[in-house]
Amino acid sequence: MSTRRTDTTLAHAGRDRQLSAGTVNIPPFRCSTVLFDNLAAFEDHSQGAAGFRYARDGTPTARALESLYAELEGAAGSVATCSGLSAVTVALSTFLRPGDHLVLSEGAYEPTVDYVHGVLGAFGVDVTLVPPDIGARVGEVMRANTRVVYLESPSSGTFELQDIPAIAAAVRAGAQDTGRAPLILVDNTWSGGLFHHPLALGADVVIQAATKYISGHSDAMLGLVACNEATLSAVRRNAKLQGVYASPDDCWLGLRGLRTLAVRLRQHMHTGLALARWLAEQPAVSEVLHPGLSQHPQHDLWRRDFSGASGLFAFRLQPQHDHEALRRMLDGMRLFGMGYSFGAYESLLIPVRLPPHRSNIPEDRGPLLRLHAGLEALEDLQADLSAGLARLESS
Ligand SMILES: *Cc1c(COP(=O)(O)O)cnc(C)c1O
Repeated sequence: MSTRRTDTTLAHAGRDRQLSAGTVNIPPFRCSTVLFDNLAAFEDHSQGAAGFRYARDGTPTARALESLYAELEGAAGSVATCSGLSAVTVALSTFLRPGDHLVLSEGAYEPTVDYVHGVLGAFGVDVTLVPPDIGARVGEVMRANTRVVYLESPSSGTFELQDIPAIAAAVRAGAQDTGRAPLILVDNTWSGGLFHHPLALGADVVIQAATKYISGHSDAMLGLVACNEATLSAVRRNAKLQGVYASPDDCWLGLRGLRTLAVRLRQHMHTGLALARWLAEQPAVSEVLHPGLSQHPQHDLWRRDFSGASGLFAFRLQPQHDHEALRRMLDGMRLFGMGYSFGAYESLLIPVRLPPHRSNIPEDRGPLLRLHAGLEALEDLQADLSAGLARLESS
């Protein structure tokens, strides 16, 4: 892994003065056709001018983004895709074949679980869902045909952390008999790729919904798959086989976002932690789910494996607050928007409806809300929340 400190990596990696014609930033290369210099170059088939052949197989803008993200994750390389979900589907479909077994965390992003059941299941992949805090007990569900263990840390909606080193050790210990070690894939979207590096902890592939913190401005759809040496060429080949391509404009926005990721994320972290601590003291709130709070059951794991937190967490209201109270609260928010996604400069607050496969979460514990702390002033966000909680009580 690079020994350069992350802030410096974000400012300097993925820059090639040749490709950018001397300008600081590489522009979005909108293109399809690449012209070859002569017949020999055309027939060589691997190389167009500057090593590019056809836009679907990669553009200079995508390559710059991929090399910066790979350096950030300590990866051998990364592959840009057209959305976070396509990064998930490209990664999973690279390694799974009919008859293979997939171990999937229940806490994975819901469309990931839907893809697994709707597509991989239909293609004959066997799936075992496991609790999001399974840790070393994952050894108990491994089979001779287990090919992939898919994790997300922290979990979508409920923020359990994965003990990746313990899981990697258990998975590899079990695989000694079969000689075919399953691969560990981790969705690292929550940390933005900045505060958590699963490859260094034993994962093989990292998935990033760059739509979120990396783009950071609610204006792009983008995914990245970062791979270790052993997995990179297979992932790149699968993305190509499936025609998965990331638009140069979105790659350019992703690159632009990465340049300021560290300063933005530190602000998201600061505001998110302050709001989480404040919410934990409010009588209307029964629990706050944020791994950076000392009361989180896996706070020690967070301190061990993460160097910071993003601005995304959840909290639960006391169970007496019914749907009508929730409507009064949410419909009157002035600064917090109600919408999907997260990671951009604007704050969001939405109810979380956990899918039926989340067996570990009792229904009757009161409404669960997911909060994304944006870049607004903390006092203004706190005042907006405070007024919202007051509306819970006023009928
Ligand atoms: C949003 C998200 C995705 C999917 O990203 P899109 O760009 O919306 O397709 C995948 N994983 C996690 C954890 C996400 O939050």
